[in-house]
Amino acid sequence: MNAVVLLIEDNEQNHYLASYLLKARGHQVVYAVDGPAGIALALEIVPDLILLDIQLPGMDGYEVAYELRQSSKLQQVPIIAVTSYAMVGDRERVLRAGCNGYMEKPIDPETFVSEIEEHLSQARREEYR
Ligand code: MN
Repeated sequence: MNAVVLLIEDNEQNHYLASYLLKARGHQVVYAVDGPAGIALALEIVPDLILLDIQLPGMDGYEVAYELRQSSKLQQVPIIAVTSYAMVGDRERVLRAGCNGYMEKPIDPETFVSEIEEHLSQARREEYR
């Protein structure tokens, strides 16, 4: 189940780790360092899944998720928010912005890819309904 994952992340170390783990399991990773670049890339390639950092410079992840959902091309693409905010209400806020799920930083290398793959499987099941 090889997937193309778009990672929108401004932190180079987080990008490196997520990218390494995904590639080790056979996935392709495309990468943008801010919201506008991520949106442009998403529209161009229509990835299988978008991993979205919430704390981005300028346009934050909530705004990015909202913008991504404005495109009919991207309606079915799972968006997983990644954030280190440990605040009550965050989960509701990311879901309201159009994300399908939520992951906390630091990402856990043991479970990270499995979680992503679970979202990919769920998106594929919904597609064939
Ligand atoms: Mn960040």
